[in-house]
Amino acid sequence: MDLEKIYKDAGALLEGHFLLSSGNHSQYYLQSAKVLEDPKTAELLAKALADEIKSSNLEIDTICSPALGGLLAGYELARALGVRFIFTERVGGEMTLRRGFEVREGEKILICEDIITTGGSALEAANVVESFGADVVGYAALANRGFCKRVSTNDEAKPECKLPSDKPFFALGDFNFEIYEPDTCPLCKEGSEAIKPGSRGN
Ligand code: ZN
Repeated sequence: MDLEKIYKDAGALLEGHFLLSSGNHSQYYLQSAKVLEDPKTAELLAKALADEIKSSNLEIDTICSPALGGLLAGYELARALGVRFIFTERVGGEMTLRRGFEVREGEKILICEDIITTGGSALEAANVVESFGADVVGYAALANRGFCKRVSTNDEAKPECKLPSDKPFFALGDFNFEIYEPDTCPLCKEGSEAIKPGSRGN
């Protein structure tokens, strides 16, 4: 599967000069919502991800996604795997389980995001369901930003990766873009200004 082509064709791989939530700058930005705006593409991607997960024989009762970014990918993955779907959300900055969702002791939960960068939100979602006694069996995302090690690649996880190394992480492909600290950003040196994705209609 040519994930980069799918993102490009959907206008979801943006090129420019972006200010990331980490404070760093990048020439590229992934807008997964654009890929998932076509339900057919979402279904195709989720099925491919589900196939990879199934081939690992991992036992899964439930998919849980951190809102908002992971919702569509997680819901489609749950559909493809034939399991239930729940989500966590931030309230006053803290990840929580609301909306009457219940997790039972020992329930096998896979955490799903649209994109895993360092995996911070995914890990927070995992901590929430684990606090109710669930057993987090692994992590999944449509795309890996290249910091964490996904199943079926030999790349080492970078120090920035927050996902536990003893749990499998499934993704369909890697996007290894360079990121720059503002002080050393070559795009800034060329005189352009880093913009926050979403702030100008993207
Ligand atoms: Zn810059």
